[in-house]
Amino acid sequence: MVQVIGTYAFSVVRLTNEKGSSLSRALACSSCGKEYKYKSSLYTHRRYECGKDPKYFCTLCPYKTVIKGNYKRHFLTRHSSE
Ligand SMILES: [Zn+2]
Ligand SMILES: [Zn+2]
Repeated sequence: MVQVIGTYAFSVVRLTNEKGSSLSRALACSSCGKEYKYKSSLYTHRRYECGKDPKYFCTLCPYKTVIKGNYKRHFLTRHSSE
């Protein structure tokens, strides 16, 4: 299923476990297939991230992003213990 809302096009996909039962719905970017739980995250991705070269590379893991705020949040949530 593909919905078009404003200038954003995305498809709604279903996440399934190995038994094939539905776990939750997710929104997939129609350009790169990246999946998001929330529409707002997908919109941010489409607007700032999709098709763009990443500018911020994590020094501790393979994470990369074009959004400085995402990098900050990633670093704080993933790599700050205590
Ligand atoms: Zn995308
Ligand atoms: Zn990292």
